[in-house]
Amino acid sequence: MHTLTGSILVVDDNAVICQIMKLALEQNNHHVTFASNGKEALELMQAYFFDLVLLDIMMPEMDGFQVLEYMAKVPELAKIPVLVVSADSQIDSAIRCIQLGAEDYLVKPPNQTLLRTRVNTSLRKKFLHDQEQAHQAEMERLYETVKGANAAKTEFIGMAAHELRNPIAQIATTNYLLSKIGPLNEKQMELLDRINFSLERMQALIVDLDDISRLETGNIRVEMAELNLVTLVHKMVESFAEDVFDKKHELVVNVPEDLPLIWADRDRMIQVFTNLLGNAIKYTPDGGKITIKAVYLPQHHTVHISVKDTGLGIQVEDQKQIFSRFFRSEDAMVQARPGTGLGLYITKSLVEMQNGRIWFNSKYGEGTAFHFTISTRPPDDYEQIRGMETAVPTF
Ligand code: ADP
Repeated sequence: MHTLTGSILVVDDNAVICQIMKLALEQNNHHVTFASNGKEALELMQAYFFDLVLLDIMMPEMDGFQVLEYMAKVPELAKIPVLVVSADSQIDSAIRCIQLGAEDYLVKPPNQTLLRTRVNTSLRKKFLHDQEQAHQAEMERLYETVKGANAAKTEFIGMAAHELRNPIAQIATTNYLLSKIGPLNEKQMELLDRINFSLERMQALIVDLDDISRLETGNIRVEMAELNLVTLVHKMVESFAEDVFDKKHELVVNVPEDLPLIWADRDRMIQVFTNLLGNAIKYTPDGGKITIKAVYLPQHHTVHISVKDTGLGIQVEDQKQIFSRFFRSEDAMVQARPGTGLGLYITKSLVEMQNGRIWFNSKYGEGTAFHFTISTRPPDDYEQIRGMETAVPTF
């Protein structure tokens, strides 16, 4: 075994024993310091750094037990390993020392080889432990640094979103006024339309950034209440009618009129549908079919909703990351469409904040179905809907 060197404190009132140990230890290049009683030993330990203590039990002023008891109470000293060196007749005392925290014991006068081996083993353990502690401290420091950087980034995102709101609102108002000021020619109208379209995208991005910042700082609130999902779905369909028409999609709504009320936050549900429906329309080439379906599962007191499309589908290697912040597929057909990669991250957080679950199944080139569950009952019953994604068959 590789020989380690350390700084060792030998505590013994017997000068001969001290010399025997010094000779043995110095052969392995240890740095040896002596104390002739417990009190002196503790003073030295508090003044200097030691890797190991070799401790006699019976000593004047302060014995080995008292030293161990004291060391156990002081965190810095409790870390130093102690090998008790006791007379043959003091086996019971040596055992008590081990109970008090000593690592091992040696019989006096110590066999030199045994002494060096035990010292080496103890030092190895101590150094490994020190390394582990240093590693852990470094990890904690890194974690705190990353956490701090992340918090600063979240704060910046929130601030940027907030600061961008006003100038964008002003551009929107100016645009509106421009369109009213006088007769604009066709080209000017077209340019204004383009500005308006970009403005809408910027406004959507600001809402997403603001949500991200709120989600990460725990500043987002959901106001749960009874909600009529049937009405909500119809309103969503109306608001997307133009996009569906423009892309020549077929939109099928399969939501029973007698669906029970759900327990959810209305605005957050609108956000969830806006994202899932918006994505289905966006990632489905013209002339596709989009189906919104809802099924009541009375045994789980929950409604299972799905938004299914016949669009691009998601490549297998992208599927693991689909709910990650800022993730967008590298696929050229995805990249050709506008997006920030924030929608699904926010959607998942919002569904989970309403105690639902969200998942999806997708086949590249064939289409995608996003599924989520929402309870029909207030919080007491939430436990029952856990694990729904495995319990509910996908459709
Ligand atoms: P965005 O649409 O703004 O890029 P999202 O977070 O809503 O961001 O979606 C993340 C990614 O997931 C998209 O960029 C796309 O790659 C993929 N994706 C989401 N919905 C669909 C869908 N219905 N069909 C195919 N891919 C989808």
